[in-house]
Amino acid sequence: MAVHRNSSSKAKKTTPTSPSELQVYLNGEFVPKSEAKISVFDHGLLYGDGVFEGIRSYNCLVFKLKEHMVRLQESAHTIMLELPLSAEELTEAIVETLKRNKLRDAYIRVVVTRGVGDLGLDPANCKTPGVFIITDTIILYPESYYRNGMEIITVPTVRNLPEAVNPALKTLNYLNNIMAKIEAKNSNYREALMLNHQGYVAECTGDNIFIVKNGILLTPPTYLGALRGITRQAIMDLALRNDLPCQERVLTRHDLYNADETFLTGTAAEVIPVVKIDGRKIGIGKPGKITRKLMSSFRDLTKRDGVRYTL
Ligand code: PMP
Repeated sequence: MAVHRNSSSKAKKTTPTSPSELQVYLNGEFVPKSEAKISVFDHGLLYGDGVFEGIRSYNCLVFKLKEHMVRLQESAHTIMLELPLSAEELTEAIVETLKRNKLRDAYIRVVVTRGVGDLGLDPANCKTPGVFIITDTIILYPESYYRNGMEIITVPTVRNLPEAVNPALKTLNYLNNIMAKIEAKNSNYREALMLNHQGYVAECTGDNIFIVKNGILLTPPTYLGALRGITRQAIMDLALRNDLPCQERVLTRHDLYNADETFLTGTAAEVIPVVKIDGRKIGIGKPGKITRKLMSSFRDLTKRDGVRYTL
């Protein structure tokens, strides 16, 4: 079992609880959900100062875990937050959390906060980063969206400037996305298309976006302001393996409206077809052939690619 270096004396301790209550990894301990609490002085809470990952496990296989660990380390490196656990130790802690909760299929949230400090901004006053891991189930969208496709809307809030809080970083600072989500929900949509400050397509609030045009798969380059999605990369790899041409290309809303097919990718949403954007029908208004093929290839990949564990 991984030991949280900064609280090694407390490692492995488990608070007695009812057998059904979800166990959360919190700074080297396993605590029941109802007792999994952090300080109000944690800068993760006070300033959104921290990093996180959302990961999935499918039938006891933690999908693309290595890639998630690399992205977590890179986000932490950029904000100069030293992760208190190595990738191997985090992997052990994730697997142990899944086992304790007897989860074959799960959504895994790994969070590293700057830790407890004072009320000033200076992270130097936060001596010990906080680490917690939640494993639970997640259903983001109804099954009918995967069968029939979903509708999305462009929202007024633009994606963060890469020169400011770069969207490539997966930090606890998600207000940009939350604003966009609120705007979408205000118009009765579940997901929002976000443009960058120049008006080019960036991504959605929690997903990357792809289109298919004339048999070519296209997605915006992440330098325009998007997360380097792990599902996005998995789809690009699958395209390569299936001889489907795939390119990163600067896209406008006009390109999206006139696409043959559109879909979103994300750890929670997986691959989900989009059939209408801003009231414009995309292609024939149904999930396209290439989208359906990629959805199926992606499902197959989730059975193969990852770190295995036993319950
Ligand atoms: N963009 C944003 C803003 C996200 O938060 C996410 C993750 N939910 C994604 C894209 C998709 O990334 P991934 O495929 O790595 O989950």
